[in-house]
Amino acid sequence: MTGTLAAAPTHDRNPLVAARSQLADAIAALDYGPGMLDMLATPRREVTVSVPLRRDDGSVEVLVGHRVQHNLSRGPAKGGVRFSPDVTLDEVRALAMWMTWKCALVNIPYGGAKGGVAFDPRGYSRGEIQRVTRRYTSEIMPILGPTTDIPAPDIGTDEQVMSWMMDTYSVNRGHTVLGVVTGKPVALGGSLGRASATSRGVVHVALAALAHRGIVAAGATAAVQGFGKVGRDAARLLAEAGVRVVAVSDQYGAVHDPAGLGVPALMRHVDETGSVVGFAASEPLDDGEELLHLDVDLLVPAAVEAVLNADNAHRVRASVITEGANGPTTPAADAVLEAAGVLVVPDILANAGGVIVSYFEWVQANQAYWWSEDDVNARLAERMQAAWEGVVGYAARRDISLRRAATTLAVETVANAHLARGLYP
Ligand code: GLU
Repeated sequence: MTGTLAAAPTHDRNPLVAARSQLADAIAALDYGPGMLDMLATPRREVTVSVPLRRDDGSVEVLVGHRVQHNLSRGPAKGGVRFSPDVTLDEVRALAMWMTWKCALVNIPYGGAKGGVAFDPRGYSRGEIQRVTRRYTSEIMPILGPTTDIPAPDIGTDEQVMSWMMDTYSVNRGHTVLGVVTGKPVALGGSLGRASATSRGVVHVALAALAHRGIVAAGATAAVQGFGKVGRDAARLLAEAGVRVVAVSDQYGAVHDPAGLGVPALMRHVDETGSVVGFAASEPLDDGEELLHLDVDLLVPAAVEAVLNADNAHRVRASVITEGANGPTTPAADAVLEAAGVLVVPDILANAGGVIVSYFEWVQANQAYWWSEDDVNARLAERMQAAWEGVVGYAARRDISLRRAATTLAVETVANAHLARGLYP
């Protein structure tokens, strides 16, 4: 590899190292010329901006934001915006690459992108978050647009942030552009079913994976790491499917009940207190890490990257892991889990429900015609099922892991689109 790739960091927990190693594996299994790895490892476009913020006390703080468009071969760039102190350009590059594979794998006509601003929104007022959002949007506006690059929520952002992004873009254009972001509130061109779409997709494939392993869902046990946009509804939908959710965690702590947590009561507790910690009908776990090692049928990491890594993968006792988060398992952990016979349903398949319904939202906005929630959910289930069957079939035919199968299928789709278009000039 050349240029920036040669200088890339190599630490197991760096998401870009993980994303590039998964890509290299896929390329090694396919039959393209030597340039394809470099082509797909390198983002098409990267923008880094400073985001000066006037704080409520009158002082000025200069934040840093990024937007990376990894690939545009199959359509406009698509992917979330993250507000988190951990945001780095490498992380955004990795997340953008995973968006490319995710969109290709579930056959929606997008490339991949990701964005982020490095700050912790929990330490800022609503007015400050609005100003960060609007300034960031206006700084990256030259590369945004409903046929160019379409942001969505991710860690630390929500439908309110999407509304501000859409408004900032629209006011500058002089007319309302609903299709420029997804994950908007239903009152503002959002789609019914978008808010729980990622979780619904996660649970769809989690149940399929349990069945694949011969585990009956009713009474099976699950642990869910993260109780935010993905983990919360995943826990609820798993419980509704009869799965015993025995442990959940958030950034403040973890709770455990071997008989199964009452998820609706836990959701009310979180609404009242802001955390799962202190939920009466449960025992605390020492730390979130312990949750990852519980003896459960299903583990759903639904928080951040690299939580399953070289240091702890050997302690995992779950039969099935369904990745609600992006990049929760490092390549070193993948090798350990594969050798131990753990079935890992990879992120680009497991959590694709979010971007699938983002696509539905964009289609509805472009047509100015809105679907019922049942319609959205049925179409989502159909796509998740097709992607699941495609990946499982490919993996079985080649005797490879679901991660390798999913990445290889996706890379092949993108590489073929790229080759069909040809290299310009
Ligand atoms: N942030 C979500 C993801 O990582 C959704 C992206 C989207 O809807 O564009 O898949």
